[in-house]
Amino acid sequence: MGGPDPTSELERDTLTGLPVVGEARARLRDWLEDANGDDEAPLVHAALLGLRRFETINLAYGESAGDVALAEVARRLNRFLEDDIEGEWMLARGRGGHFVIIARGPCSRERWEWLAEELADSIALPINANEGVLRLSPRIALLRVLANERADTALDRLGIALTSLQRDQNRRVQWADGEEALIGRSGAQLEADLLRAIDRDEIEILFQPQYSLSDNALVGAEALARWQHGELGLIGASALFTIAERADHLMPLSRHIAMRALELASEWPAHLRLSLNVTPADLADNRFAAQLLNVLRQTAFPPQRLTIEVTEHALLGDLRTAQRSLQQLAEQKIEVACDDFGAGFCNFRYLKVLPIGAIKLDRSMVEGVLDDSRDLEVLRAIIALGKALRLKLIAEGVEDEALRVLLADEGCDTYQGFLGGQPMSSRQFLELTRP
Ligand code: C2E
Ligand code: CA
Ligand code: CA
Repeated sequence: MGGPDPTSELERDTLTGLPVVGEARARLRDWLEDANGDDEAPLVHAALLGLRRFETINLAYGESAGDVALAEVARRLNRFLEDDIEGEWMLARGRGGHFVIIARGPCSRERWEWLAEELADSIALPINANEGVLRLSPRIALLRVLANERADTALDRLGIALTSLQRDQNRRVQWADGEEALIGRSGAQLEADLLRAIDRDEIEILFQPQYSLSDNALVGAEALARWQHGELGLIGASALFTIAERADHLMPLSRHIAMRALELASEWPAHLRLSLNVTPADLADNRFAAQLLNVLRQTAFPPQRLTIEVTEHALLGDLRTAQRSLQQLAEQKIEVACDDFGAGFCNFRYLKVLPIGAIKLDRSMVEGVLDDSRDLEVLRAIIALGKALRLKLIAEGVEDEALRVLLADEGCDTYQGFLGGQPMSSRQFLELTRP
């Protein structure tokens, strides 16, 4: 299931595009009515997120900076929930800097609390606004809603818990049902779990198919990592890499993923390509290229069938080291793709100074083009730029047929997205290659 249902007419907040809190209350009421006091009904969890001392952002930087911050918080929450919640959910905008999240489906208390901690981490990352770099202090109240409870009382309980949290310097997350925060899995424990998971091969590699836009032929796949944690359940790629980064385990994790993905891809038919993501830490390490070439040799995967995806974020560090590594890889015919293009600041200089062979248009660049003519013009300009530089153009996040047709007409080369297939196991991917 996904997040907000785009087909239904929800009343939305103009700043963030999110449904207003009344919609979450109504949805919660529906769910509780469905449950009808039945203890066996699917679990419903709720969370209320507030930003500590948010007024000071408006005071110090002006209201437009406050607006940028709220829109960015909404975007981060949405992306995170899309990746990490398996059941039905809704994110709504409350008053001021409040956001309400409700979710229905299996979820342990431990997992709900872990999700809240991860959400808080992602909201606490700096936000770039014209006025300067903003830093927010998120606070989150949590609740497992009782089957015989009323939606209003549940939201009230969250409100009360959040108010007490907002006064607290040292706590970010608190349960609103009177129980103490589970001491849960501390960050340190999770980090230790991760090393073990790498050793025990619990990091799963999924492959999302990529198709040619001219004839819809399968052309390859992007490797995407997941962690099936024994107690917390599925941990998505973004959270996985945040944990690895905190624990300084990024390099072993990347090496493990590259090795596994290349081993699996060596069994694919020879016309299919593999795309691997690289982290900023990989690119900052001057042994990266040599190590990757070594893994290629060990797995006997031909370098000319490999693409590595580099985000702008990964280039912000030491550009010279990154440049050297990428050059070495490009010399071996590995394709370098600029990932999430259009999501960041679009530093066109990278296209000039790095051996980029492809650009991967971020989902946020393509999702609006069907109904916004300005979005379409921006896309056309980027496509023209890509063509002038002889770059391959890959569109990602393509969810519907109308968009695929438009991208094909506009001259993009390949696409990837839920329309063509969700990330899947290598075995499932191989089945796609059979006629
Ligand atoms: P990304 O490289 O931009 O990967 C695409 C993300 O968009 C994937 O999320 C994918 O599941 C999701 N996606 C694909 N098609 C659609 C669609 O049609 N609609 C929507 N809404 N989403 C779609 P995922 O797997 O959670 O990965 C998130 C990010 O984590 C990736 O973004 C990438 O930056 C990073 N990542 C994932 N796996 C790896 C890895 O093995 N190594 C490294 N270094 N980073 C990874
Ligand atoms: Ca990618
Ligand atoms: Ca991307």
